Formats: sequence, structure tokens, C-alpha cells
Amino acid sequence: MEGNEWLFCPVCNSKTRIQIRKDTELKNFPLFCPKCKKETLINVEQQRILVVK
Ligand SMILES: [Zn+2]
Repeated sequence: MEGNEWLFCPVCNSKTRIQIRKDTELKNFPLFCPKCKKETLINVEQQRILVVK
């Protein structure tokens, strides 16, 4: 899909199964990584990932 981008795991940098659009906004989203099996709480704004601490 054009303009969509995969989210990458902030822990191990591998591709997750979540895709976001250019206008996707996520707040306190639990991003699960199938590789390191960790869940990271993130915000997404304008295709930038911010890890929620
Ligand atoms: Zn990971």
C-alpha cells in the first residue's frame, strides 16, 4: 500500500507486523515485537515513533 510504512521495534529494530499510514496517530500503543517478544508502549506522530517511558 502506497505511503504505508512498517513499524520497527525500538528494542531490536526488526520489523513488526504493524503498518502505519502517513496520517496515522497512535497514543500509548502497545507495540508487540514478534522477534524479541517484547511489548513497548509507543506514540506515533507523522510516522515518527516515540517510546513512552
Ligand atoms: Zn524487538
